[in-house]
Amino acid sequence: MTVHSAIIDGKPVVAQSSFGVVNPANGIEIGRAPAMGEEDLARAIAAAKAAFPAWSAKSDDALQAACIAVTEHIKASAEELARLITLEQGKPLNGMGSRWEMGGALAWAGHTAGLSLPVKVLQDNQHGLVELHRKPLGVVGSITPWNFPVMIGIWHIMPALRTGNTVVIKPSPLTPLSTIRLVEIMNEVLPPGVVNVVTGDDSGQFNLGAAMAAHPDVKKVVFTGSCATGQKVMRSAAETIKHLTLELGGNDAAIVLPDANPAEIAEGLFWGAFINNGQTCAAIKRLYVHESIHDAVCDELVEFARGIPVGDGALEPTLLGPIQNPMQFAKVSRLVADAKARGKVLLGGEPAEGLFFPPTIIAGLSNGDPLVDEEQFGPALPIIKYSNVEDALRMANDSEFGLGGSVWSSDIAAARKVAARMECGSVWINKHAAIQPNAPFGGVKGSGFGVEFADEGMKEYTDIQVIFS
Ligand code: NAD
Repeated sequence: MTVHSAIIDGKPVVAQSSFGVVNPANGIEIGRAPAMGEEDLARAIAAAKAAFPAWSAKSDDALQAACIAVTEHIKASAEELARLITLEQGKPLNGMGSRWEMGGALAWAGHTAGLSLPVKVLQDNQHGLVELHRKPLGVVGSITPWNFPVMIGIWHIMPALRTGNTVVIKPSPLTPLSTIRLVEIMNEVLPPGVVNVVTGDDSGQFNLGAAMAAHPDVKKVVFTGSCATGQKVMRSAAETIKHLTLELGGNDAAIVLPDANPAEIAEGLFWGAFINNGQTCAAIKRLYVHESIHDAVCDELVEFARGIPVGDGALEPTLLGPIQNPMQFAKVSRLVADAKARGKVLLGGEPAEGLFFPPTIIAGLSNGDPLVDEEQFGPALPIIKYSNVEDALRMANDSEFGLGGSVWSSDIAAARKVAARMECGSVWINKHAAIQPNAPFGGVKGSGFGVEFADEGMKEYTDIQVIFS
């Protein structure tokens, strides 16, 4: 079995041992990644630190040109990366799968390359000139999850590079191969040490992510993952007072108002909930529907869901693949088994072979039921009936999370009023999870802090220096 090499200082690196990466569609090992230890991490951080002075000294135009060149170079390998994502992550090539992920990765890379944070003049008068400069931080540590390995890698790496930082990325042990390949491709056009990748399997005593978050030469950690691990990152980073961006879990509510048209919104609701098999941070994870159209919405949603082909993501017709890993599968199975006893199964409800779980829709649930309160992160949607909007808002906001939300209505002005009262970082009207590179994205409450994307996201990779003259 091929042992893929990590990349440190522009060179391939293996470790003394390796761990297997499995295709979730069939359980077959598709490759191995290096199980790296403290010394490997130290080498990667040292390489990024050594590359920082020259990289950060580049002019804004030169950094921009380099980021454009990186984007173009990735574009040439987009199909290869999409196939690798499908192999290790399980998502289909088509639909909102790996080709879509690569389209997003390129859109974000290109947009970020085009951004700029010029010097801002705060004052220029007889009392003097006051300028606000944005300075890169140094080595940025990136820790990514397994749901969108390449797109989230791009979200972390590109703004860091664009603002003059260097990077060490640590992907999830479940999906390391596409990130290794991404960094390999980037290194074909970047100076050595500017972007490095290290891999480890989270088993045993040594935890690569924790060590990265604690390392004194890492000046910022950008972390996307679960709330529990986010807390650990924060603790590890405390000793060295690092900059942090924490993009954590979510339990997004969607509120369907009484004037919504069930037939028109069914498709948007379905993909808002089942995008990437529900394994998406900002997906609809609780659906609140007004009693006057509850049954019609359920019928339309189930009707639409029935037509979705589930299978091996490598087959062109597939639109939903397996759940990515056994732990996640067990969680979804537990939550669905519990919800079946409390509510009414409208679709699915029984695990299929291997890691396959059919799209599952369960009505008759309420806040307090585990499938409603917990982040299921899988293909199981609870539907909660409500009778007045105040109740729906109260239930939607009654959550420790605050990532995304949505309101569905034929009256956009009314929907905007409801949207403004939802406690979350992004709210969409008549769509969900429709993130875009020119709009900042981040969570509130337990979903973390800091934002990604747009100027606001780039600023998080800089320190402010004010020069008074
Ligand atoms: P996870 O927290 O289990 O793992 C995330 C990363 O942290 C992995 O690379 C893992 O190896 C690493 N890690 C493990 N222990 C660590 C430690 N002690 N210190 C530092 N790093 C450590 O998350 P996951 O299961 O890979 O991803 C799913 C979660 O990610 C869900 O909760 C989902 O909502 C969230 N997510 C959030 C966003 C967002 O933008 N807010 C996006 C995608 C996923």
